[in-house]
Amino acid sequence: MSGEPFDTLVDTAKSVFDAASHKPLLEAWQGLGLAEIRADLATRLIAAGIEEGPDESRFLINHVLAPVRLADALADPALFSWQAADELAALAWRRLARVPLSQVLGSQPFWTLDLAVSSDVLTPRADTEALVEAVLAEAGEASARLVDLGTGSGAILLALLSERPGWSGLGVDLSAPALAIATANADRCGLANRAEFMQGRWGAGLADGSVDILVSNPPYIVSDILAGLEPEVRDHEPALALDGGVDGLDAYREIIADLPRLLVSNGLFALEIGHDQGVTVSALAREAGLVDIRVLPDLAGNDRVVLGRRVGAANQTDG
Ligand code: GLN
Repeated sequence: MSGEPFDTLVDTAKSVFDAASHKPLLEAWQGLGLAEIRADLATRLIAAGIEEGPDESRFLINHVLAPVRLADALADPALFSWQAADELAALAWRRLARVPLSQVLGSQPFWTLDLAVSSDVLTPRADTEALVEAVLAEAGEASARLVDLGTGSGAILLALLSERPGWSGLGVDLSAPALAIATANADRCGLANRAEFMQGRWGAGLADGSVDILVSNPPYIVSDILAGLEPEVRDHEPALALDGGVDGLDAYREIIADLPRLLVSNGLFALEIGHDQGVTVSALAREAGLVDIRVLPDLAGNDRVVLGRRVGAANQTDG
């Protein structure tokens, strides 16, 4: 998308517009102290529909102050510069337009990592940590070839590699801009020596029996539901990472059908699912001949992961 000259033009126009538009906010803060600006920003965020306005006001201020601490800046007005106020207004302006906080700040904590994010990738969710935990609990420490289909920011791949020094990983994504973010994140996490990335559609570019552990958080939102989601998700996260088609299961059909080919015998797979997809995704896995299929919850108690294995060599019935 961003390669198109017209889109580039529109993006440039938008950023000029955005940069110009935060000036009224800066003017509204003229003559106010940091405590008053913080309160004003919290009120504006709440009015924009952001319930966590007070917390987010603090996060945004901390971001522009760093490394200066908020308590110090509240005590000493000289520590809150005009440049910091200008930067705060620019960030706040984007957040008030319901750009996700992660994209405004440019990064998002996930697992023990801090990952770069942009509108080209799904912001890593805490829910997805359930998938990381499930794989760590299920897989041994022995060296393994890990593949993450639709890797996006690289969150799942990098979290798992960070916990298993003997593993190497490959992240696949259809989106070139997403792969650029994932590659940067591998560097940022010091994992570039064990992480590779490849452009492709799910497992299509991978050899038979080349995967010990396969993970994926594919798009699983029912298309019709997308339009009703929060503006942060609907307008600012990539539809490619969210839209699961008419029944939300398009990506699972493609991925699961290919698992018996991709996995080594006894190979493990773990897929993130929507809270109401445990039965349907398990059934797809069973139909594909996969075994040991289980549904696991996230921390909120919602079904979030389907995992299982390719049948082991000793139990193989299909010759
Ligand atoms: N859990 C995400 C959301 O609700 C969706 C992620 C996905 O489609 N893989 O926004």
